[in-house]
Amino acid sequence: MFISAEKFFTGARRVLSTGRGLLTLMLFPPICEVCGREAKKTICEECLMGIEVFPFAYCPQCYKKLTEEEVFRGRPRCHKEEQAILYSPLDFQERTVREIIHTLKYQGGRGHAERLMALIEAGMREELPQIVGKEGVIIPVPMHFVKKIRRGYNQAELFAEKLGKNYGAPIIKQFLKKVRETRPQAELLNREERLMNMVGAISGQEKYKGMIAGKTAIIVDDVYTTGATMRECVKELKKAGAKKVILFSIARSRS
Ligand SMILES: [Zn+2]
Ligand SMILES: [Zn+2]
Repeated sequence: MFISAEKFFTGARRVLSTGRGLLTLMLFPPICEVCGREAKKTICEECLMGIEVFPFAYCPQCYKKLTEEEVFRGRPRCHKEEQAILYSPLDFQERTVREIIHTLKYQGGRGHAERLMALIEAGMREELPQIVGKEGVIIPVPMHFVKKIRRGYNQAELFAEKLGKNYGAPIIKQFLKKVRETRPQAELLNREERLMNMVGAISGQEKYKGMIAGKTAIIVDDVYTTGATMRECVKELKKAGAKKVILFSIARSRS
C-alpha cells in the first residue's frame, strides 16, 4: 500500500506535535491566572465563583442606586440630563474580574466572555428578562474596523451575542459605527478630556434606524468608566427614535 509523501509528513507532524503538547502539559500543568493554583481552565472554578454580581440599576453619572420608579421611567432623577440608566454587574476593582477582562482584551479567549456572561445571568435571573423585555434590541458598542481586524473580534459583540441569543432579542451590529479612531480612553486623565475625545466618533447609520424606532435599546460594552463612549451611543439611538435606552456594561471601574 502506498502513502503519499505529503500524507506521511502530515501524519508524522501530527504525532510529533501531539507528543510535544503532552510533554508541555506534563512539565507545565495549566495554572489559574488569578490564584496560581493548578486548574483545568485558565481561571479556576473557585476564583470564578468568588465573583460578586450586583444586579442593580445605577445613575450613569453618580452611580446612585435607582428606585423602581426611576427604572420604570428609564432616567435618573438625580441627573436629569442623563437619558439612560446603567446596569454594571461586576466590579472592575475585583482582581478576578480585572484579570478576565484583561485576558479577553489582549490575549483573546472567547470562552472567558461566555463564562462571565453565564455568571452574570445566574446573578441576574430575575432582572435580565425584564431588562431585555419584549421590545429590546441589543446594540454592541462599536469598535473601529482597523482595530477589530487587529484584535480579531470586538469583545462588546461577544457579550451582546450571548445576551441576544439567551433572551431572544435581535442584535443590531450595523447601526452604530465608530467613524474615527480615538485615543485610548485609559491614556486620558480627566473626565472632560474623555468626553471630548469621543465627541462625533460614533455615528448611527440611516438605513438601520427603522430597526431602532420605538424599541428599548440595550447598549452593551465591557468596562464602564466615565461613560463617554456610551453617551455618544445614547445620542445616536435617541436620534433614531429609541423609546428607552439602557446601558449594560459588564463591569464598572468606579463604585
Ligand atoms: Zn483561581
Ligand atoms: Zn445621578
